[in-house]
Amino acid sequence: MDLTFTPEEQAFREEVRAFVREKLPASLRHKVVNSLRLTRDDHVMWQRTLHERGWGGPGWPKEHGGPGWNAVQQYIFEEECAAAGAPRLIPFGIKMVAPVIMAFGSPEQQKRFLPDISSARKWWCQGYSEPGSGSDLASLKTRAVRGLDKDGDHFIVNGQKTWTTLGQHADWIFCLVRTDPQAKAQRGISFLLIDMKSPGITVRPIITLDGAHEVNEVWFENVRVPAENLIGEENKGWTYAKFLLGHERSNIAGIGISKREIERLKRVAATEQKNGKPLLEDPLFAAKIAQIEIDLLALEMTNLRVLSDEANEKAPGPAASILKIKGTEIQQAITELLVAAVGPYALPYKAESESDEEGDIGPRYAAGLGAHYCNMRKLSIFGGSNEIQKNIISQQLLGL
Ligand SMILES: Cc1cc2nc3c(=O)[nH]c(=O)nc-3n(C[C@H](O)[C@H](O)[C@H](O)COP(=O)(O)OP(=O)(O)OC[C@H]3O[C@@H](n4cnc5c(N)ncnc54)[C@H](O)[C@@H]3O)c2cc1C
Repeated sequence: MDLTFTPEEQAFREEVRAFVREKLPASLRHKVVNSLRLTRDDHVMWQRTLHERGWGGPGWPKEHGGPGWNAVQQYIFEEECAAAGAPRLIPFGIKMVAPVIMAFGSPEQQKRFLPDISSARKWWCQGYSEPGSGSDLASLKTRAVRGLDKDGDHFIVNGQKTWTTLGQHADWIFCLVRTDPQAKAQRGISFLLIDMKSPGITVRPIITLDGAHEVNEVWFENVRVPAENLIGEENKGWTYAKFLLGHERSNIAGIGISKREIERLKRVAATEQKNGKPLLEDPLFAAKIAQIEIDLLALEMTNLRVLSDEANEKAPGPAASILKIKGTEIQQAITELLVAAVGPYALPYKAESESDEEGDIGPRYAAGLGAHYCNMRKLSIFGGSNEIQKNIISQQLLGL
């Protein structure tokens, strides 16, 4: 196992770095590194910039318009983007539904949907979770009944999805729906692509503790979906759903983001004072930062080992769960120290975090930290909560 980067990989890193440095607008970088809210246009602009360079779908093979990068190149790309303060790619189209369409969609579906995903012409959201069906996703109840009428073969969908991230921006939603209520839970589910403009769809915002509108409820009332929007075979949706979750967890360790955030933490701690000295010189605070850096280094080595295995065609398996747990714990620990460093200045978090104007209530860098701290609590819940990841490790890795 070789954990060092080859000269070709180093050259690739330089290429990505130069591109991002040239193309990422300073105003967007400023928002990202200060955890200020990004608009739909911010995300679309960056996605289009990457698309124009041929990097719109970093994990996509060449035959579907991607760069054909291997796992190491994707890792380097994500690390460089994070270090430069580029927005993270919204995963729902690029990393979730696109791989499913490539693997299980018809050639017509591939032609129809994939180009609009990498070019950000269409925004996708994920309709998996329902009230009462999150970790136990196979219990989902949203119902789709197939029928044939003068307008053709179709499904009529009724039910509710929840926690739909950025669904307010979405043109399309990919949904798990129950098509056979008699079958065993996992067997009666299908995977449908639904146009968000379809009559009968209502999107209701859920405002989270940080004051943000990031998640939504999506209601379906007699929504008509043409049968041509079914992925693969009816009642086989669980297979496609699990395939998608495997992709959802790739690059989940967030090493690049954590490296950037530790640098930010050090900058803040070097400015904040304790007993007349920079907080960074306080031995207890410095030790906490050092511990996170040690954990991050260990995680990086684990991640590189997984990448090395992948390069040798070994599937990552439950190792992805380890990366998720540790990566999200580290990201959350950094936000805890950031908030501790600025103390009460993290409190006025709502309106203040939407702008970064320096006001009467503390230093500029503190404006977004309270909201950011609250928002990062989600990391250990979505994409399969950390408790569930621990179950996976205990069953599949430790054989308990
Ligand atoms: C901010 C945010 C954004 C999200 N975005 C989306 C989205 O865009 N699309 C989408 O479909 N979903 C989304 N989700 C939903 C997310 O996937 C679920 O919240 C997650 O799967 C957990 O399900 P739950 O909330 O129903 O919690 P529950 O399953 O009710 O779990 C509650 C607690 O019990 C624990 N628990 C449950 N079962 C077990 C078990 N067997 N063993 C041990 N512990 C257990 C859980 O880990 C958790 O701590 C999002 C969630 C959040 C918070």
